[in-house]
Parts: sequence; structure tokens; C-alpha cells
Amino acid sequence: MKTTTIRCHCGQRIVAKDVLQRSWYVRVFGPSFMYLKFRCSRCKRLGEKFIEQDKWDDSILRDIPSEMSLEEKKRFDQMGKIGVEEEIEFHFQMEDAEALKGLIKEFER
Ligand SMILES: [Zn+2]
Repeated sequence: MKTTTIRCHCGQRIVAKDVLQRSWYVRVFGPSFMYLKFRCSRCKRLGEKFIEQDKWDDSILRDIPSEMSLEEKKRFDQMGKIGVEEEIEFHFQMEDAEALKGLIKEFER
């Protein structure tokens, strides 16, 4: 089973203690979204994320050390600088969030 995890663009996993704001965007048509605003515990940058309701699970933010395999942890520790690809991906995510906000406004009109 693939579980959704929230990560900062630096690779750090976002857990409950990093979350500044969390709220549901409930839409009449289409899926609802969980909106999260967070501050990364590693690089201290702010980020935000929309997660579809059907992908949301409270365990996403649970900090379980055993969840990440040692191999995975090593890989993340070795990841120093933000790669260009990640930067682009992050940019798109932000754009998605903006687009979604616009969409929600349309619905609320
Ligand atoms: Zn970070």
C-alpha cells in the first residue's frame, strides 16, 4: 500500500508538529481537499499543500520513525541541495494550489 507523505522541497518529511494550519476545503461538486500550511523543521521554509480527501489519512502527519527505512533515511540525509527537478515540481505544486484556490472562489461565488 502506498501511503501519502508530505515533504518539504528539501526532502524533509512534514509531521504534525510542523503544521501551522490545517483546514478542509469542502466542495459541493468534486472531491474535498485538506489544506495544510507548514514550516519545515529542517530548512524552516514555509510550504502549503492540498491533499484530496480520498488520499487523506491522519497517519500522514504521524511521526513514526520506523516508517522510513534506514536505506531511505540515508538517501534523504545524502540529499544536500535542492535539485532543479524538485524545484520545478515544487513550483508546479504551488501553482496547483493557486489554481485550486481560484477554483474554490468560483464555487463560493
Ligand atoms: Zn525543508
